[in-house]
Amino acid sequence: MKPIGHKLDPSAERLEWDLTELSSFRDPDRSGWTREVFSDPYRQSRQWMADRMRAAGLEVHVDPAGNIIGRRAGKQPGAPAVVTGSHTDTVDGGGRFDGVVGVLGALEAVRQLTELDVQLNRDLLVVDFLGEESNDFGLSCLGSRALAGELTAADLQRTDRTGTTLGESFSGFGIDPSAAVGVDWARRTPLHSYLELHIEQGPTLEQRQLPLGIVTGIAGIERLLATFIGSADHAGTRPMGDRQDAMVAAAEAVLAIRREGCGAPNHGVATTTRVEAASHSPNVVPGLVRMMSEVRSVDAKWLSGTRRRLGQEIQATASSYGVDVDLAWSTDNELVQANEEVQEIAASSAASLDLPWTAIPSGATHDAVHMASLAPMGMIFIPSHNGKSHCPEEWTDYADIAVGVRALAASLINLDQHAFQT
Ligand SMILES: [Zn+2]
Repeated sequence: MKPIGHKLDPSAERLEWDLTELSSFRDPDRSGWTREVFSDPYRQSRQWMADRMRAAGLEVHVDPAGNIIGRRAGKQPGAPAVVTGSHTDTVDGGGRFDGVVGVLGALEAVRQLTELDVQLNRDLLVVDFLGEESNDFGLSCLGSRALAGELTAADLQRTDRTGTTLGESFSGFGIDPSAAVGVDWARRTPLHSYLELHIEQGPTLEQRQLPLGIVTGIAGIERLLATFIGSADHAGTRPMGDRQDAMVAAAEAVLAIRREGCGAPNHGVATTTRVEAASHSPNVVPGLVRMMSEVRSVDAKWLSGTRRRLGQEIQATASSYGVDVDLAWSTDNELVQANEEVQEIAASSAASLDLPWTAIPSGATHDAVHMASLAPMGMIFIPSHNGKSHCPEEWTDYADIAVGVRALAASLINLDQHAFQT
């Protein structure tokens, strides 16, 4: 593979052209580069994407879950396929690179393989997964989730703020919801491997001046809804030493959660995103406060310990203020490790091209989480300017994207020839 690998020279200009074209499909009434799932700009952009896939020589179809799939036929019909791709929807007020780089980068990799006359043994599938970003229905990764058999009939009953169900939104977008729940091609036909190129969405690679990150795992997310029950009193007359102030207990919890994140031995983050008093009066000692927090990590041991440690500390501190606490934990995402052989192939492919890399955890969720249940999974990260993402300033230099595509294309060639041990 070495001779071919060194000839790989993805075009930053072509990547810029594609990315600029795709960015023009945006909601004019929203800030940034908004192209949310089920929106008109998203619908229009998908037509463009299918055309671009065809122009790159792929055979295109849309599966029952709304995933756009471009196939490049391999020499061995029926051999499990190598899969790559990502998503092209954005968050409200989002940027141009999140997800997009993985789909357009895959197309550029395909063009490179064709230009260099590289014939793979296996089919190569480029997938633009339906609706990866979190949405009003509270369910991210719609297309990859469905593919993994993790989209349920109950999920279709979820509603957005207008009361529209997810099932109705599927129908309105031309997707039969029951067919989406039942999509099973990826479970019927074994897949060989999945490798996704993505922007880092954090500052590590830029700070370390490295062009590539090989993802070790995708963080598990534990969410906490805490309810602090104290006693509502007149804020002017109840003495300080005789209060059961639910807000103070919640404030202590906010700091305890921050300390937990700061004390993580590996990659770990802990964030409180909302604290809300039941009373909106300016002169009442808060009697009831609700707090939402989340803890994320790729360190399973630390993550599983957070519930216990934080539970004990928050309970003990609250009771010292005479406040009761109800803690409701839920697992939003299980921690998913990247396949070690896929990591090794991505790393050795980068090294063979003299591209420096580092092992890196992903704090954000990706389609790769769901694809990991279907095939050995890996991800390659490229730098994000200032670590910014999910905002209009999100940026990655086109030359950096081209380097990522080089590593992706070389890795796909090597994956094609790899027999997994596990
Ligand atoms: Zn993404």
